[in-house]
Amino acid sequence: MKIDDIKKVTVIGCGTMGNGIAQVFAQTGFDVNLVDIDQAYLDKAVATIGKSFDRMIKKEKITEDDKKASMGRINATTDLKVAGDCQLVIEAVTENLDIKLEIFKKLAGICGDDAILASNTSSLPITQLAAATKHADKFIGMHFMNPVPIMKLIELIRGIATSDETFALIEGLAKKLGKTPVEVNDFPGFIANRILMPMINEAIYSHMEGVGTVEAIDEVMKLGMGHPMGPLFLADFIGLDVCLAILEVMHDGLGDPKYRPCPLLKKMVQAGYLGRKTGRGFYNYDK
Ligand code: NAD
Repeated sequence: MKIDDIKKVTVIGCGTMGNGIAQVFAQTGFDVNLVDIDQAYLDKAVATIGKSFDRMIKKEKITEDDKKASMGRINATTDLKVAGDCQLVIEAVTENLDIKLEIFKKLAGICGDDAILASNTSSLPITQLAAATKHADKFIGMHFMNPVPIMKLIELIRGIATSDETFALIEGLAKKLGKTPVEVNDFPGFIANRILMPMINEAIYSHMEGVGTVEAIDEVMKLGMGHPMGPLFLADFIGLDVCLAILEVMHDGLGDPKYRPCPLLKKMVQAGYLGRKTGRGFYNYDK
């Protein structure tokens, strides 16, 4: 397959990442199916994409007509079978190995033999997900960053069986989307989270141990290190459940106690304080 053969893409999961990924493909001219388990989630995702395009119109980056054309390329549905005539399927559902494996097993009976399958997982083994498919050589990790329409990076993760052809094709596609791909090998946390999550975890430990307030910790990292967001604000933005899931995968997969998730992070997730998406995390977003 060549890059120009990729015309239709299915994105599975319409949450924080899935709606951003669907938007970027639609604005680049691809037909996009956006699939989730509940039509209400899909309606919300389509509204989010619409608002994102509105912000781009305000900044004079696109016109009303561009928005209309891009929105018209998005088909939001709960029926996974739409993936059947797509050249690329990107899975962006909840960070849970069993849910993802189940989806890839289903896709094996839906997708054509040439289709490339990708996962946006933040930390789960690409090699293991690939093994649930019929063609592990056509499987790759496409780890987009949040917010997808703005962030340039895509980590491209090679599973043990990912072919050079698949890698080159998706590398070219990432560039076509206006992104910068970086090649990464399949180890827990890849590069971005292997380095980011221990920092976020340490910030949570520092807060739990009373070293500083949430605001103090974020201020130190912003003003002292030049980070655009403090680690606790960033954790809220990513989702505390997502952060916990990634740390657990790194802790299990690498077996090193330095990745042990902070008990305060676990407690907040148990309480349902998941960050921005639930209105409460280290900060309060009620307003
Ligand atoms: P999210 O919780 O915002 O959205 C997940 C979506 O998946 C939900 O809408 C849910 O209904 C849907 N879903 C669950 N099971 C499904 C199924 N069987 N079929 C179809 N849809 C299903 O999660 P998110 O933050 O968008 O994360 C999605 C993936 O992207 C995860 O693997 C995560 O690790 C990864 N990721 C997240 C971030 C981030 O900053 N949040 C960044 C990079 C990668």
